[in-house]
Order: sequence, then C-alpha cells, then structure tokens
Amino acid sequence: MKIGIMGGTFDPIHMGHLLAAEAARDSHALDEIWFMPSHVPPHKPEAGATGQQRLEMTEAAVKDAPRYEVLGIEMELGGVSYTIDTMRELWRRHPEHEFYFIIGADMVNYLPKWEEIEELASRLTFIGVGRPGFQLHLDDLPEPLQDRVLLAEMPLVDISSTAIRRRLAKGHSVRFMIPDAVHQYIVRSGLYGVKP
Ligand code: ATP
Ligand code: MG
Repeated sequence: MKIGIMGGTFDPIHMGHLLAAEAARDSHALDEIWFMPSHVPPHKPEAGATGQQRLEMTEAAVKDAPRYEVLGIEMELGGVSYTIDTMRELWRRHPEHEFYFIIGADMVNYLPKWEEIEELASRLTFIGVGRPGFQLHLDDLPEPLQDRVLLAEMPLVDISSTAIRRRLAKGHSVRFMIPDAVHQYIVRSGLYGVKP
C-alpha cells in the first residue's frame, strides 16, 4: 500500500493538518494516512499537552475517518523524535508498504537541515503542501532533493496550533478550526488554560 505519514506535534491537531493530509491522499492516490504525533517536541516552549494527550486528541480527530490511522510509534521509541529513526523502524516493521511523508511549506524549506536527509530522501518521497506565510519553492532546494518532493494542492488554511493555543487561553472561539471531538477533549481536560 501507499501510506502517507503525517508527522507533527499536533498540540493540538487542527483543520490545516487534516486538509493537508487529505489533499496529499487525493492528489497522489495514497491508500492510507497515518498521523504520527512526535514524542519530545524539540523547540516548543509553548507546548501545552502531554504526549498521551496529543495522541488521544489526534485519535479523536480521525476516529470516524476511514483510511486514517494514528501511530503511537514515536511515543514508543521515546526520546527526541527524529524522522530518520522513526522511518527506519517503520521500514523494518512494514517492508511491504511504500511510504510518503507529508509536510507543510514551512517544513519543506527546512528539509536540507533534517537529520540524515540523504537517506530519508533516497527511501522516501515527500509531499509538500502550501501554507499561508511560507513560500513553497522547490527550486530553492538542493538539486537531489527537488526530485524527491511532490506537491499537492490544498485549500490554504491559515491556522497553526500556536494560534489555537493562544485563542483558547484568551477565551476566543476555535469552533470550525479544530474538530468538535478535539474541542470537547480540550474542554474536558482543561488544556491550554481552558476552564473545564
Ligand atoms: P505549532 O504552531 O505548534 O508549530 P503547527 O500548526 O505548525 O503547530 P505542527 O504540529 O508543527 O503544527 O505541524 C505538523 C505538520 O503540519 C508540519 O508539516 C506543518 O508544516 C504542517 N501544517 C501545520 N499547519 C498547517 C497548515 N495550516 N497548512 C498546511 N500545513 C500545515
Ligand atoms: Mg509547526
């Protein structure tokens, strides 16, 4: 099967993540999308939820969506989640699948700095999607990487988890920016400064 991996912090998961995954699935005939919350979020001082909570919110977001799964593998592996470590484990566990890695424009620009990007790029196809505020220019990438990134068009969504956390902390509405089930989870757990 062709599997699209959607990695991220998902603190919390929002409509931008879901639309990006669906655009990649549709554009490149992926059989399944596996959402993969990272274990230790590097450089995320504002992060608010635990790994277990981020995993549960992601599960709540896709529980009624056929072809969507959530992987706890980076929680299992522990430590700082480097994509290369996780992918080596996924390639070992699932030699039968062909993996694609979906990333927003902000991440596409950083690809050259990813750990072991050469091995990643040789065994994995990236799918880049647009994100307001970030240019998506494959020409800026080193030549060998350019051919390893496919594009998928999505309705651009100017939503970030950071903005969601800030809105919640100030008591503003996030309705229709995140799935209802995720909102309910946040309220129930009193996350991000929301009073349960
Ligand atoms: P934060 O504000 O905490 O950094 P985020 O909204 O950027 O959160 P991440 O978990 O950091 O979400 O991102 C996971 C993946 O989803 C990344 O590849 C990122 O580029 C992509 N992504 C996040 N938001 C969007 C969006 N609105 N449109 C397209 N891609 C997105
Ligand atoms: Mg981000």
